Parts: sequence; C-alpha cells; structure tokens
Amino acid sequence: MANISIFPGKYVQGRGVLSELKEHLTAFGSRFLAVVNPTIGEETIERVTAALRRSLSEDELLLIEGGAECSTAEIERVAALICEKECDAVLGIGGGKTLDTAKAAAHFARVPVGIVPTAASSDAPCSALAVIYNEKGQLESRLRLRRNPDLVVMDTEIICRAPARLLAAGIGDAFATYIESRRCVLANGDTVAGGKVSLTAGGMARLCWETLRRDARRAMQAVRAGVCTQALENIVEANTLLSGVGFESGGKSAAHAIHDGLTWHPACHCMHGEKVAFGTLAELVLENADETELWEAFAFLDDIGLPITLEDMGIAQAVPAEMRMVAEKATAPGESIFNTNLTVTADAVYDAILLADALGHAYRKRV
Ligand SMILES: [Zn+2]
Repeated sequence: MANISIFPGKYVQGRGVLSELKEHLTAFGSRFLAVVNPTIGEETIERVTAALRRSLSEDELLLIEGGAECSTAEIERVAALICEKECDAVLGIGGGKTLDTAKAAAHFARVPVGIVPTAASSDAPCSALAVIYNEKGQLESRLRLRRNPDLVVMDTEIICRAPARLLAAGIGDAFATYIESRRCVLANGDTVAGGKVSLTAGGMARLCWETLRRDARRAMQAVRAGVCTQALENIVEANTLLSGVGFESGGKSAAHAIHDGLTWHPACHCMHGEKVAFGTLAELVLENADETELWEAFAFLDDIGLPITLEDMGIAQAVPAEMRMVAEKATAPGESIFNTNLTVTADAVYDAILLADALGHAYRKRV
C-alpha cells in the first residue's frame, strides 16, 4: 500500500485575517453562504460578523444561523440553500457541528468549502471527514468527503478570546497525535487517509508534539488573559494544522479508540480532546512507555487543565461493568487501537484505563 498524505487546500492564520477573507475566496466565485454556529455567544458572533463585513458585502456573503446538530436534515437544508441562493461556495463559522454541516453540505452540493473556527478546540477543521448525528444528538455515521476543505481560516484575534477550556481540549486532541502516529508507524498500520504513514505526516505529528511541549503552557496563560501571543499562535497551528494532517495521514492508535469507548460511558460528558487526553495516558500505560515520558505526560496534561483521572471526566466511581463496556467498545472491530505492534485485548485496555486513573491520583498526591 502507498504512503498517502492529504491536506486542506489553503490554511490561513493570523490576527485579523477574517477581515481579508475576500481575497482568499475569489478563487471560488463571488457569492457565498456562511453558516454561523449560534452557540458561540453573542459577543463572538458580533465580532465575527463585523470582521466579515469589512471584507464582504451583504450581496456577496449571505449569513444564516446553523442548526443544533450536524444531522442529515440540517445538511440537506444547507445544501438546498446553496443551490437556491446560487452561491459559489459555503463557509462554516464556529465550532464542530456547524463546521461539519458546511463540509457535508459542500460535498453534496459539489461546491468548495471554507472553514472558519472560532476556537482551536480540535484537529477536525482540516480533515476530509464530517460526523453526522441524529436529531437527538446521537452519533449516526462518519462521512468521508471527496477532499479536505478548500480553505481553513484561523483568526487568532477571535480565537484568543474563546473560553480557555476550548484551547485546552484542542491541546488534548493534539497531544495524542505524535504518540498515536509513532505507534502506527511501528505497526505499519493504515491511516484515515487510506494509506501508510508518510514521512511528511509523521514529521508534522512530531513537530506538533515538540510545539506543544514548548508553548502550550504559555498559550494557556495567553488565552486566559484573552491576548494573542506568539506561543498562542504556535499552539493554534499545532492544534489545527499539524495535528489535523498528523492524525489524518499520520495514523491513529489506542488514544482515540479509548476515547470512542469513553463516549459510551453514561457519566462521561466531557469534550472530545479531554477524553483523548486521558486516552493518551491509557495508551502510554498499555504500551509500557518509558517512566520519564509517562510522568511528563501526567504533568503536562495536569498543567494544561486536562483530565488525568476518571473523576476529572465525570466518572466518580469506576463501576466494573461500565468500565468493561468502555474497554470492549475501544477494542471493537475496525477501531484504530489495532494500529499497534502489541496484542490488544479488552482485558488489557480495561487494566490500562484503571492503572492510568490510579497513576493520575498518585501524581496529584505527589505534587
Ligand atoms: Zn481527535
């Protein structure tokens, strides 16, 4: 099988770049539909709208409010509007579900898509993937798109004012990238991009990890103060572009599979990147990682404010039957956990999760 790397068409990041959006959109046409996530808050919506209007008139850019879920009905509604309003491309503005709705609607309407996140909370913006939910918010399917987004715009003037927890979650998601990719390389596993790990994607995963270790703590200080610094810029790029290409073409392994298992736990309602952070600790335990690396991971995630125990994720009591279900879901056929050169069983994952939790408590006692 070939090494395959896939990328977004263009990635633009910097202070105030949203005010220059038009110059990046002209390649797609002259009339655009933007789906705005209503849950990003009044203040952010006002700031985003003001920036967009500095660049595009009401004739050029039609703003609509996104629905609560990225559901089939919502995707069809947006795709129909793209055709009805004769738009040349669609933009998704805000967070996860709205971005995925824009990606999927563009896929079906066969127009280009631009992604404008208002926080760096996961590595999804750059990927050729949309997660579809039913109207009740339960996961329905994962849609593989023909290609990655044509444009991704990260305006750090807006992102630095997002809640600190969102940046932390993005750091949690990005922290897994290199640890999973290196395991996928050892296993000669397949990536989400449908090939083997390329030198480029593996290198981006490693650069992501180095950038996090150097700048993530300072970036958290910046976002708590609502200011944009070089460390924050570096972490926004690590969370979004380096981790985006790094996970999609660099390979996933146990951390994301354990995340998938945790989504089935009735008490675990935290963000994607928060569950991935704990999943990474469990992966390091499963792999019998080097002692220094293991404790560094606990220290790093705890400093950022990410979960290092089950309790941090809302699981106050590790009920054996519930934790067994998590381990079984994490080792279901097709899960990325089999991208490893170890023999993985539900029993081994169950034990790794419980030991990661115990080590998290031990770490807290020590510091
Ligand atoms: Zn992820």
